[in-house]
Amino acid sequence: MTHAFVFRDDTLLCRQTSDGWWPLQVQLPQSTPQSEDGERSPTYQVGRVALLESLAPSHWLSDSLPKSSVESGHQAIETDSVDTFTAQSTNAVTDTYALAHNMVLPAITDHSGYDFLPYRQLITQLPIALSTQISQAIQLLRWQQDTQFCSRCATPAVHTKTDERAMVCPVCQLRQYPRVQPCVITAITRPNPTTGEMQILLAQHRRHGVQKQPAMYGLIAGFVEVGESLEHAVVREVAEEVNISVTDIRYVSSQPWPFPSNLMLGFRATYAEGDIVIQEEELTHADFFDISNLPQIPFKGSIAYELIALVAHEQGLSL
Ligand SMILES: [Zn+2]
Repeated sequence: MTHAFVFRDDTLLCRQTSDGWWPLQVQLPQSTPQSEDGERSPTYQVGRVALLESLAPSHWLSDSLPKSSVESGHQAIETDSVDTFTAQSTNAVTDTYALAHNMVLPAITDHSGYDFLPYRQLITQLPIALSTQISQAIQLLRWQQDTQFCSRCATPAVHTKTDERAMVCPVCQLRQYPRVQPCVITAITRPNPTTGEMQILLAQHRRHGVQKQPAMYGLIAGFVEVGESLEHAVVREVAEEVNISVTDIRYVSSQPWPFPSNLMLGFRATYAEGDIVIQEEELTHADFFDISNLPQIPFKGSIAYELIALVAHEQGLSL
């Protein structure tokens, strides 16, 4: 049996359990026969993508989840079961695709226990193997929507007939692959010049419109430019945003981030020299903060949080 996550733009259909909100998986219809034009791979349908098996949810299996059913009209419909959480591989569909293929979705009402939740909300509470898979699904569904036409000659593009994930132009043969945009994010540290306590550079980004919450502080981050190495991007972004120089640049870890389709590459660096001068179009404030006395920082689950937590951990502190 094949199951799928259901998306509506950047939100995912979830159900409320005693453990919190969990992604719902619905059963997919039997595979459809090849379309008459023969141009499109039978496995390729707009609104439906297969996710990498390597990201199968074997690490987030929860066998404590209850079997559930929902009332829809006069009929009690089985929407999923414990089985759906043991799928070896999985798919993602849009809610539009689900409705077009007569898949049964639970009714969303105030008290139904089902809702579409934003990825940003889910990432703080789901296991990383699952949140990464959701991130992949959001990016692939969006890529599908955005590559319906050749970007060179505007001919309707078709999916490649091979297993490769690519859209190809039948006229000029241009191939369009899902694009990943590398983005560096750096934790810059130094000892407090007075006390010797380890400090980390945090910056407050300029935001537009009315804000309800006080702005949080994050790390220096930015996109890698064409022709640039990751290390060069770290040095350039830090110089541009806060006017200081860094040394001892080390890669730590990465995180896919689906807004829009980034691969966040986490680095550490040591402060070298220079006084902080902020880039005013981007930032409102930046400074070195003692690791024992941090302002509001990004949420758990984000790579910024992980990098800051790593520095704190080295100093024997937990966030
Ligand atoms: Zn073309």
